[in-house]
Amino acid sequence: MSIQVANLGFPRIGLHRELKTALESYWSGKSDAQALLDSAAQLRAAHWQQQKALGVTYIPSNDFSLYDHVLDASVMVGAIPDIYGWEGGDVPLETYFALARGSSAVPALEMTKWFDTNYHYMVPELTRDQAFCLASTKPLDEFLEAKALGIETRPVLLGPVTYLKLAKSKEPGFDPLILLPELLPVYAEILRHLAVAGADWVQIDEPALVLDLDDRSRTAFRTAYDQLTAVAPKLKIMLTTYFGGLDDNLSTILRLPIAGLHLDLVRGPEQLELVTAMAPADLVLSLGIIDGRNVWRNDLEEWAQKLRPVIEARGADKFILAPSCSLLHVPIDLDLEQDLEADVKSWLAFAVQKLGELGALAQVLSGTGEGAQDKLAEAGRVLALRRASPKTRNRQVRDRLADVTSAQRRRWSEFADRWRLQQAQLSLPALPTTTIGSFPQTEAVRKARASHARGQLSDADYEAFLRKETEAAIRWQEEIGLDVLVHGEFERNDMVQYFGEQLIGFAFTKHGWVQSYGSRCVRPPIIFGDVARPQPMTVAWTTYAQAQTKRPVKGMLTGPITMLQWSFVRDDLGRDEVCRQIALALRDEVCDLEANGIGIIQVDEPAIREGLPLRRADWNAYLDWAVDCFRLATSGVADRTQIHTHMCYSEFNDIIDAIGRMDADVISIETARSKMELLEAFTSYHYPNQIGPGVYDIHAPRCPSREEILALLAKAAQHLSADQLWVNPDCGLKTRSWEEVRPALANMVAAARQFRAES
Ligand code: GLN
Ligand code: ZN
Repeated sequence: MSIQVANLGFPRIGLHRELKTALESYWSGKSDAQALLDSAAQLRAAHWQQQKALGVTYIPSNDFSLYDHVLDASVMVGAIPDIYGWEGGDVPLETYFALARGSSAVPALEMTKWFDTNYHYMVPELTRDQAFCLASTKPLDEFLEAKALGIETRPVLLGPVTYLKLAKSKEPGFDPLILLPELLPVYAEILRHLAVAGADWVQIDEPALVLDLDDRSRTAFRTAYDQLTAVAPKLKIMLTTYFGGLDDNLSTILRLPIAGLHLDLVRGPEQLELVTAMAPADLVLSLGIIDGRNVWRNDLEEWAQKLRPVIEARGADKFILAPSCSLLHVPIDLDLEQDLEADVKSWLAFAVQKLGELGALAQVLSGTGEGAQDKLAEAGRVLALRRASPKTRNRQVRDRLADVTSAQRRRWSEFADRWRLQQAQLSLPALPTTTIGSFPQTEAVRKARASHARGQLSDADYEAFLRKETEAAIRWQEEIGLDVLVHGEFERNDMVQYFGEQLIGFAFTKHGWVQSYGSRCVRPPIIFGDVARPQPMTVAWTTYAQAQTKRPVKGMLTGPITMLQWSFVRDDLGRDEVCRQIALALRDEVCDLEANGIGIIQVDEPAIREGLPLRRADWNAYLDWAVDCFRLATSGVADRTQIHTHMCYSEFNDIIDAIGRMDADVISIETARSKMELLEAFTSYHYPNQIGPGVYDIHAPRCPSREEILALLAKAAQHLSADQLWVNPDCGLKTRSWEEVRPALANMVAAARQFRAES
């Protein structure tokens, strides 16, 4: 009996982002729906064939999506809010994309991060009297589509309990989980269709099982799977959990009458022993042993040794090997990367390579297949080289970190004393006006950067261009009367990449795209070695900007937690340690800016909240080191130097204490859309430092009027004392046009002046 390999989901976007191209061409009206659907079908076929060729037995279907799999689940069960005007029957493509992106008539569904990943899903919006029906048979259609190509697949469904737990309702006090009894018949119906069509297994994803659950939720799982397993006795359910261990939810799950259970053994390695000891003898265990969230090549020999006795004890037919979670979160194929350093490249595995690893391991464990043992030995050899590589270790960095004292993580004086010195230095008016950093990345800016990257624009010409942009931005900020200026970030491609490219220990891919949402993809940097800063990174542009004006120009850095959070992080050193290394590199940058006459330095941390672990019990440990890292990066300066930070997309209640401990002199946050409600957390905390609640929603093209901004300021002043307040937009302005930015900021300055005059 040989061990089989499963995949839980393949990246959808395509090796060359074909889906992005097809979507954007359709949205812009350049091609029709049929062309889009054809491209999508081609991608699915190619991915199925590729997985078959890689020896995957359980190939997923319905893991593909034109936009988002949670949206697909909403459409499948007919959960489409009334405003989208759907009246039953097939859900038209226009309706689907109206839900995803909004239209001239309706806004899009809300979007938020999928668990602790950087993938965003469309939040289901349900009502108390929500009716469900099988509005789309996509899972069945794609199963049959694969079957017609001669490929047996295992359809993937987002589980009903996780679906409801991810959903929101506009009605206060209403918990969508109540709708489970109404939802289950629709799931039963699709399961019946799949069974009739000949599906053997179905993969039902319930990642909510790795969260803290109350009894009600646990009961919901029992209700759901008691019912669903009874629907089609021959259709086996692989209940799939990922992004963590099951911990206190394990005994609930092992009592469910399911045929298979998938475990994430990367995030929850301790589960293996426990589950194999406790699981009923006939439960098939899918072992998620290859990290679906990171890019590192695996130590297969180590897994072989660990798994051999377990498999012998329970029988090979009771195990399946799989990635820890869907491969949606990693780039597709490492072979495309021609410019990575050869050794670094040899340490990596993307989706295709990961499936190859699973195949080799399965063969070795099954005692079949020539050459598989060699692949394991090769992996072992390469990983030994990685462990010994001087590229991963930097003595100086390690020594310096070992010597960090708590004094280095503390400003010299308390905030009140610092503030006095800073005021004496800067003499800013009450409610100082500023922006968050970036100005519009216009077509011209992006073009110049691209031609420079291609070698068509010389360094000198590119720099001259950037100088011109920067100087113009300074002049204009002076003209409209902003108090604290920024240089505009014209030279930056991305707020993490720009720094990563200048630091030792970071690598960048050419094709390593990972879906962020819809057609949007990112190429996260790879942190493979100790992080060090060979030379200043932002001093030249910041001092150039400061030389153009007498007003203070704010230095602008990306914080250590955000750099970590938006990268693939090495797996041979704790995340906290990697973060400390980045913090030290940034500390030097902060001190260099100060030494070069920059009196205000902003260290952005928009990702601090999304770094929160999935389980509450782990929050404090994370927040402690996150705060430490921020303080290490920012505490090297004198009291008179003013440290700012910026956070957006945040709910602050959970982290307000950590924000307090970060002790930035000034924090700017996103509050315009919530009409200052987010400030509540700061009010009840009695937040003592300065704060700039965003008064201008930069996500929409519309220009806020002076009256509107005044009203928001008045509201902010009810929450906090006016002498604590700054006036700024919600976030950076890089995605806006100058036509939008100019009047909006002029109104903002006018509103601040009027507010000062009247109070
Ligand atoms: N300084 C950055 C900018 O203005 C901050 C971006 C962010 O918060 N995401 O673009
Ligand atoms: Zn922001």
